[in-house]
Amino acid sequence: MYKVTWDIETGGVRLNHKVVADTLSVSPRPVFFEELDLLKLHELGWTYPHCEEPLLWACNKQYFYRGQLVFEAKGANLYNDATIEIKPGFESLTLIPVDMDEMLRRNKDILFLLESEAIEFIRDTFIDYSLASKKFEEFKANQLDYEALAAAIEKRTKRKIAIVKEDCDSFDLMEESIAQERGKKRILATKIDVFLASFSGGKDSQVVLDLCTRSLPPSVFEVIYSDTGYELPSSLDLYEDVKRHYSSLFPGLKFSTTSNHAPVLSYWDKIGTPSDTHRWCCSVMKTAPLYRSLKASGSNKQAKVLTFDGVRAEESTRRSNYNRIGKGVKHSTVINAHPILNWNTTEIFLYLFTHSLPINLAYRFGKARVGCIICPYSSCWDDMLVSKLYPQQLSPFIERIAEWSEREGIKDVENYIRDRKWKFRASGKFLTIPTQVIFKNSSANFFATVKGGKSSIIEWLKVVAPLTCIIEEERVYGDIKYKDSIYSYEITGTLSDYSFEVVGLKDLTLISSLKRVIYKAAYCINCESCEIECPTGALSVFPTIRIDTKTCVHCHRCLNFHDKGCIVANSTSMTTETNIKAKAGIDRYNTFGIHEEWMAEFLMSPEDFWENNGLGPKQVPGFKNWLKEAGIVDSKLNLTNLGKSLSQIYNDSVKITEVVET
Ligand code: SF4
Ligand code: SF4
Ligand code: SF4
Repeated sequence: MYKVTWDIETGGVRLNHKVVADTLSVSPRPVFFEELDLLKLHELGWTYPHCEEPLLWACNKQYFYRGQLVFEAKGANLYNDATIEIKPGFESLTLIPVDMDEMLRRNKDILFLLESEAIEFIRDTFIDYSLASKKFEEFKANQLDYEALAAAIEKRTKRKIAIVKEDCDSFDLMEESIAQERGKKRILATKIDVFLASFSGGKDSQVVLDLCTRSLPPSVFEVIYSDTGYELPSSLDLYEDVKRHYSSLFPGLKFSTTSNHAPVLSYWDKIGTPSDTHRWCCSVMKTAPLYRSLKASGSNKQAKVLTFDGVRAEESTRRSNYNRIGKGVKHSTVINAHPILNWNTTEIFLYLFTHSLPINLAYRFGKARVGCIICPYSSCWDDMLVSKLYPQQLSPFIERIAEWSEREGIKDVENYIRDRKWKFRASGKFLTIPTQVIFKNSSANFFATVKGGKSSIIEWLKVVAPLTCIIEEERVYGDIKYKDSIYSYEITGTLSDYSFEVVGLKDLTLISSLKRVIYKAAYCINCESCEIECPTGALSVFPTIRIDTKTCVHCHRCLNFHDKGCIVANSTSMTTETNIKAKAGIDRYNTFGIHEEWMAEFLMSPEDFWENNGLGPKQVPGFKNWLKEAGIVDSKLNLTNLGKSLSQIYNDSVKITEVVET
């Protein structure tokens, strides 16, 4: 949020309200002795103490000491150490740690503003939604679902609709702009059952948790750590430290962990490796267990949750477009509030230092982001660090990829793994799923055959619409009542191999829903992901699929949450050629938007940027196209004259995006 400059005297950094001549384009992270040891700087002639305080700061892979670039790290990957390029004049440096007391004193006022604003946001959000719970009771008394009505009108008119209070016990709906004109306050009507501070082991969620403890009474929110089953060991350790720390301060604060019922490698076997295009691991291993653990007491109904999370705009272009409060963005029953959306990396670390909070050990070794042991979004640098720090935990995953690559006939498996090619490939590429689904549409009938189906089509069919069902040996038939029509259906065959037919079906919406039902029935492995979309608790997927017809309202949220209604079915489609065809039009940037930090990273070291960068795999081709079309690189990715000038300008610390955009 604030601008960062070097603070030469303290060896630290300084936050500023305004852009000044030496404002940094990238917010630096602190560098500790552990990272320098890992890079073997002590063997290269440097002397430094093994101390708590940071010794240097890093912008990507460039390392700065008291404002001067002293070395660069290049070319690290899973199997190779980074090459260290010490800048001339710094061959035998003796480092003095950052003067933390003085640096923090100098940043105190700005940090106070930053955290006060976040605390106010958390309090206001909590108060608004707590009051919303009370309003919800009043709305219920009015016997009208105002929220649903507002959403329906918004969908129809494409205009923002506000719920406003008219007099002491009545409400009205009107366009938000009109409500503002008339001075009416928008009323929230979402009843929140649980307020949550989600903890991930990362620095951002740690700051949000601390801010929550300073904003809210400990009895009104809880902390849940969703353990994916392949967390970094340092994150698990940090969770225990954090739990101990806050439990002693706030005995009423509830801590708990969740995890999927099955280990992550068993899902790799069934879904394939997660990839840049199909990050199923987040839903299956993280969010589904988290929100599934929050059922309303005594029922299967999903609780309405408001989560304060550590999402930050700086992390990606997509996130930079987030609103500070996102309703039902990821899951229909969850509202996400982002108190530190606009904080930068430096501010996060300054907060941790100021409040003497423990730091995940992985950051001290140089990890810029902590996640799982192996992740489709990690960089070569991350791979190098994890292979050095946690080889034992990493090896089962690498062995799996190697085994599958060999089976697929990939020639140079080591290069394939080193270059992270498994992450660029669509999930499901290595899968040998025996299940087969074929649709045969004619103008009159809907017909599908399934071979090797994994779950009950009869059960899944119940979500589509009210139906009758007569079961005979090797034949099930009945009627589906959809809108104002009745359609007869028939299933013939066995539980796993069958054909499904509906006669006289032309309704495209119903056809689409039936296709999703068939995909679910064919591919379901009870991963839990779609269950958390069900608003009524009618759906239960583990240990077997069960639909409660008394509570299912046929809202189809469980069908529409993924293209094919099922994460596993989607995974099988990721192997089709359509995903790797050359793109044309605006899509050639892969919905990529220019981000100053990435431009800075490129212009800092254009020579080795493509070998070693912090971009996600999907962002690389989009960024290449953007650079070419902006005239910064030529068709062979060499800098043009404009590119060279920009690189020069960047190194003179001028704000680059201003130049590019003029
Ligand atoms: S951190 Fe990476 S591997 Fe872990 S759940 Fe998220 S995307 Fe998947
Ligand atoms: S259709 Fe709606 S109510 Fe029925 S099981 Fe699916 S999500 Fe739940
Ligand atoms: S149908 Fe739902 S629970 Fe079953 S595998 Fe697909 S997403 Fe997971």
